[in-house]
Order: sequence, then structure tokens, then C-alpha cells
Amino acid sequence: MLTIHHLYADMMNLYGDRGNVISIKKRCEWRGIPVEVVDVGLGERVRPTGRDVFLFGGGQDREQGLLADDLSGSKGADLRAIVEDGGVILGVCGGYQLMGHHYETPEGEKLPGVGIFDLHTEPRGPDEGRLIGNVLVDVPAPETREERRIVGFENHGGRTYLGDCEPLGRVVAGFGNNGTDGTEGARRLNAYGTYLHGSLLPKNPWLTDELILNALRRADDSFELEPLDDAVENGAFASVADRVRRG
Ligand code: GLN
Repeated sequence: MLTIHHLYADMMNLYGDRGNVISIKKRCEWRGIPVEVVDVGLGERVRPTGRDVFLFGGGQDREQGLLADDLSGSKGADLRAIVEDGGVILGVCGGYQLMGHHYETPEGEKLPGVGIFDLHTEPRGPDEGRLIGNVLVDVPAPETREERRIVGFENHGGRTYLGDCEPLGRVVAGFGNNGTDGTEGARRLNAYGTYLHGSLLPKNPWLTDELILNALRRADDSFELEPLDDAVENGAFASVADRVRRG
């Protein structure tokens, strides 16, 4: 059984990030892999089963402020321990920002993050706009350095700066972490952070399967996923990627 832990499902679900839950769930069901979804709200502890994917969607500054305290206690410590133990977590935009050290709002409030990634996020300057648009990213495979791509949509005011932390990938088109250093997202062990909404996973099936496989291999390192017919998903990817490349 794969357990999808949907962190703050009712608060952090900007631009349909719930589609990431649906994508993982369907790609398991299509393969006959038992899967369950557990919503983890304010004040509720995470309860890993050993075959888990944690999803942390995007949200407005207000929602991020409401849950930052909840993360600063035992839940944040639990999530850090899960990542250090090789657990799989995907944070998108506002969720991604709170996986770093802090997210500073335009009002100057520093919301404490979980500290999974060595990064921080600063507010946009008074004469800077939000970073909005479609994004195409080159994502190197850690082992083979094989290049794969992901496509999505970004809309964030925050500018994220990496410390001693690998990016998820390099921006081919769009803004990414901060619109200046060409990086997008962050990756450490099996923790993934990205600014890509869309939702991200339905149009990027290789990444969805990577999250599922990493989670199931924690219990059985010989586990393999049966291939699926991804013609529709790859068509959706190609149509947006072509549009992004054409600018
Ligand atoms: N509130 C954060 C920002 O504006 C994240 C927004 C989001 O999740 N799309 O940068």
C-alpha cells in the first residue's frame, strides 16, 4: 500500500495542486498498486507507513502564515527526520518555500520553514513584479545525468536563493527560483521542491513515477513499475513545452 500524505490539503491547494495527489493515485491504481490518501491538517501529526509520498501544495502568504507555527513544532521535526531517512516529499511553491529556512513576506514577516533545504525566500522589491508564466526546466538525473524536462506554471512573488543545495533543474524558459540565477526548485535525497504548478505531475509522468518508485523501493529495493501508455500525458507535456519554447 502506498500512502499519499496530503499536507494542509484544504489550505495549500493553489492552482489545482490537488491534481498531484490525483496523478499519483491514478498511476498506482492503473498498475494495481493499493494506494490511500491521508489529509494532514493543522495540529495533526504525520504518520509514515514506510511507503509514503508527502505532498505540500502552494498557497497565499496568509495561509502560509497560518501553518508556519504548526510546522515549527514536532511536525517539522518529523518531516526533517523522514527526509533524512530517504522519505519522498514534493513541495510546490508556497509549500516549497516553507521547506527552506524561512519565507519572508512583502510585509517583512519571516515565516519559519522546516529546514529540509538550505535555502531562503525573500520578498519581491517594491518595483518588482510577481514571477508569472509557463516554465520549462531541464532536470538532470542524479545518477546518470540523463537530461529530462518538466513543464508547468509559476506565479510567485517570493525569490528563492539556494545555499548548499542542488537545484531541481535549470530554467530553459520562464523565471524559476528567482528570475536571475537560472535555477529552478531544489532537490536533496528524495525531497523535491519546485515552483511549478499546473498541476505539475499530470503533464510530467516520468516525475510522478519517480516519486512512486522511490517511495515503494524504500520497502523493497528491487521493486519495478510496469510501464503505462503515456501518450496523453506526453501530448499534454509537448503542447505546453512547444508553446513555452515559442515564447
Ligand atoms: N505566497 C507565496 C508567494 O507569493 C507562494 C505563492 C504560491 O504558492 N503560488 O511567493
